[in-house]
Amino acid sequence: MSKPAPKPTATDIAAQVRSGERTAVEVLEEHLAVVADRESEIHAFNVVIADEARERASAIDAQIASGEDPGPLAGVPVALKDNMCTTGIPTTCSSKILDGWKPPYNGTAVDKLYEAGAVVVGKTNLDEFAMGSSTENSAFGPTLNPLDTSCVPGGSSGGSAAAVAAGFAALSFGSDTGGSIRQPAALTGTVGLKPSYGTVSRYGLIAFASSLDQIGPFANTVADAAAGFEAVAGHDPRDSTSIPEQLRPVTPHLSDGVDGMRIGVITELMGDGELKGFEPEVIAQTRAAADALAAAGAKVSEVSVPSVVYGLTAYYLIAPSEASSNLARYDGVRYGNRVTGVNTAAMNTATRTAGFGAEVKRRIMLGTYALSAGYYDAFYGKAQRVRTLIIDDFARAYEDFDVLLSPTSPCVAFPFGAKSDPMTMYLNDTCTIPSNLSGQPAISVPFGTGDRGLPVGVQILAPMLGEVELFKVAAVLEGANQ
Ligand code: GLN
Repeated sequence: MSKPAPKPTATDIAAQVRSGERTAVEVLEEHLAVVADRESEIHAFNVVIADEARERASAIDAQIASGEDPGPLAGVPVALKDNMCTTGIPTTCSSKILDGWKPPYNGTAVDKLYEAGAVVVGKTNLDEFAMGSSTENSAFGPTLNPLDTSCVPGGSSGGSAAAVAAGFAALSFGSDTGGSIRQPAALTGTVGLKPSYGTVSRYGLIAFASSLDQIGPFANTVADAAAGFEAVAGHDPRDSTSIPEQLRPVTPHLSDGVDGMRIGVITELMGDGELKGFEPEVIAQTRAAADALAAAGAKVSEVSVPSVVYGLTAYYLIAPSEASSNLARYDGVRYGNRVTGVNTAAMNTATRTAGFGAEVKRRIMLGTYALSAGYYDAFYGKAQRVRTLIIDDFARAYEDFDVLLSPTSPCVAFPFGAKSDPMTMYLNDTCTIPSNLSGQPAISVPFGTGDRGLPVGVQILAPMLGEVELFKVAAVLEGANQ
């Protein structure tokens, strides 16, 4: 694996731009030079908006020159997953059905990033409609892992992960429905946060499974991930699931440490139970992370969260069910590139047949089946009951522990084509899915390396709105990962 050069952090860039030490234009040009150098090889982006970014960076510099403060992410080059709506900028979900679509509005998270002074450099590649764990399902070709280009960067937010890992952007954003921020973060050696459900508005995030989807940051450091989270979090009346309460700021707690904190390692996710397929190096690094936290003063022990073993099964009923409903709008009338037919039904069929890729069609069929009369209770209803069991098991674990620990992904980055049957690919999500089902926050932090010297991600999980605790632990792990 090629050792990446140290990349400028978002936190440093913002401080330098705000103080006038560097201009936003200089910072942007530096990043665009890295893009020019490696993007043709990596394919992190579906579109790079260099002209718009240059205009924006100049506007930030003009604000500074006139004594205004552009905000906490002043001049920070940011990449956005291509399922986040951006006014006038193509938003495709890496699907042929939306190819060329330009949204008439920005998502709330996008607006908030502009308000914070960020400079959007482009839209990043993903598995079509965020369904996948490798970006191999993109209709526009896969993204390569900048650390080893024979390997996938993970998915579905693989383009956002690769953009930060390659130094194309100091910060990026993705969406996480079953692990799509945390797993690619783990596979690219970046930090990735899936915030508590309801902390970041989903308005303008193209829906996959609405009860699970959440936007979050990728960063090269824990502090940058915290800054990214703070920039996009907050109540939004345009998302009915947005939490109205004021959120606790995380940045002031980054160096609080973990002394006395109770940390539980999830027994079922450590590879020696019913769930198989964990690489030994991944388990070894997770144990090493637990030891590092104990050395830093935490009280670490194992805890059983029995129902997490059913998470994957429940997810692959709930997420496709919601997707089959959410994706009904791509009918060639409301949305979607129309393919003509002799009548409306034929047009709908032709549009969807031509526009969707194989994995999206598989999910729509799975979901439609699970919701159909006669099967609803047996599949969708039962999966929802498993979801409740998982929530209850986590609640029990959090009676005795402040945060929980597990691997993020059972494996490090894998070669293209290595997981060609869908079931093998789905198994990547074993450790990440439970937090989506419970709505609780979780973060992946790089900790050491595994097979072929590729990075391992360790996952920290917390109760609802426990981001402050997550970040305290993440910062200690980052410090111990030398
Ligand atoms: N890999 C999972 C899936 O394919 C998760 C996707 C996501 O979080 N968007 O559904």
